[in-house]
Amino acid sequence: MSTAFRTQLWINGAYVNAKSGDTFVTVNPASNSPICSVQAAGADDINDAVAAAAACLNSPNWGYASTGPQRATILRKLGEVFTAKKSEIAELDSLDQGKPLREANADMDDAISACAYFANLAEKREEEIVDNGTEGVFQTRIVHEPIGVIGAITPWNYPVLMALWKVIPAIACGCTVVLKPSELAPLSCIWLGELCKEAGLPDGALNVVPGMGHPAGSALSNHKGVDKLSFTGSLPTAQKIMVGAAGGPRALSLELGGKSPLIVFDDAPVDATVDWILTGILWGSGQVCSSTSRVLLQRGIRDKVMERLLERLAAVRIGDSLSAELRAFEGPAMGPVVSKGQYDKIWEFIDEAMEVHTCAYGGRREMTAALGEGYFIPPTVFVDVPMTSRVWREEIFGPVLCVRSFDTEAEAVAAANDSEYGLAAAVFSADAARADRVARAMRAGITWVNCCQPAFIQCPWGGVKNSGFGRELGKWGMEEFTSVKQLTSCASGHQWELW
Ligand code: NAD
Repeated sequence: MSTAFRTQLWINGAYVNAKSGDTFVTVNPASNSPICSVQAAGADDINDAVAAAAACLNSPNWGYASTGPQRATILRKLGEVFTAKKSEIAELDSLDQGKPLREANADMDDAISACAYFANLAEKREEEIVDNGTEGVFQTRIVHEPIGVIGAITPWNYPVLMALWKVIPAIACGCTVVLKPSELAPLSCIWLGELCKEAGLPDGALNVVPGMGHPAGSALSNHKGVDKLSFTGSLPTAQKIMVGAAGGPRALSLELGGKSPLIVFDDAPVDATVDWILTGILWGSGQVCSSTSRVLLQRGIRDKVMERLLERLAAVRIGDSLSAELRAFEGPAMGPVVSKGQYDKIWEFIDEAMEVHTCAYGGRREMTAALGEGYFIPPTVFVDVPMTSRVWREEIFGPVLCVRSFDTEAEAVAAANDSEYGLAAAVFSADAARADRVARAMRAGITWVNCCQPAFIQCPWGGVKNSGFGRELGKWGMEEFTSVKQLTSCASGHQWELW
């Protein structure tokens, strides 16, 4: 890897050390070896970052004073900077998080497209005139203003992309951002401030403060200078962040976990369906919020799907994403999971389920033992698991698939909806009317017919129930970073004659 690691905080357009001198070590999950030591932000650093963001928001060259075309120019340039650095950023995420390069490159493609898409939205955004029913006496315009200083707290599963799903639309709206990336894979995010500066973003508009959930994340979510918290991560952390938001109060959006169901009817095409199931559970080694972790097979297709699934699983290559072997391999591949903590948590689920449920594939440590010290977990499939079991109900965030059978449509929909989560859901059927009916009946923010997992920057992303609230991406994502101001003017000289 040719990239030198950036390991400091980025505040007000420059790299700085944490005031406390604290550091943490980021680890290569493919080898369980340290990559480098990173400065760990504390409350004082968060104060500095928020102060820089607030000053920039009110400066003459950004924030409230910025224009759509100005923001669009910066975002287009940022797309060029990302294009030039794409492979270096992708390699950083592969190294730090473990994901295959194919996936890391896809993340960067998504980010590059988002720069162009949100540039267009920023440029085209116009004031609206509202008919207020006063027949020309009062004229009301809706002015779109930046919502203010954003506290962005992000997870490790798509290190750079989850951050950019917030940073890019925030820039499009003229906001300023303090980004707290996950301590488990911070390296790509630390570089973002420098890259945005290269694209022309003023100092202070993006500040990056790597550090631990506490004190860095908690200081950010409790900070009075933050106007909006945009969080992606787990439910327990979200609940703490909500307490911080209440202290403002400040606006909040939460992108949380899932336990996404996938229903397959008897008339679905077997090969294509199995292909999507594999994408659904093995992309990101199953560490994807929308991972398809619960599969419901109609009784008549069950054996055919299972047979094909097991065949395909046997061909999945597992290994170090940056090894020569995996770089050259073009078939289905999985890297390690991100950390020792995640590895132990997933094995705990698997070990417990191995005792009581039927395992159709995986589930044994020997399958990845030859891969050394890295956090490798074989794809694992449990069948006929009760709907009350932990593996069926809880988010595992690993390559663990649970399968059940069903007879009727109503039974499948009820089983799919019987979850505390509601992020994504999928249905496979050749009967378009039925597929549409089921997709509408499933309680999730995103429903897919005859596919699963595609995410489009033009379309809203987010969940219902314990999967959170608020939406990222598309014009809905822009709204999350916008404050709509009512600007009403009265015809000159007109009196209301109330007294
Ligand atoms: P996490 O909640 O452990 O951490 C997320 C972020 O919160 C990290 O930056 C962490 O440092 C920070 N944090 C931890 N404690 C904090 C505190 N007290 N105050 C403020 N910040 C704190 O989640 P994770 O393990 O990084 O990510 C996995 C979770 O994220 C899964 O549940 C997954 O489903 C979810 N996720 C959701 C989406 C989505 O779009 N819905 C996308 C990716 C991940």
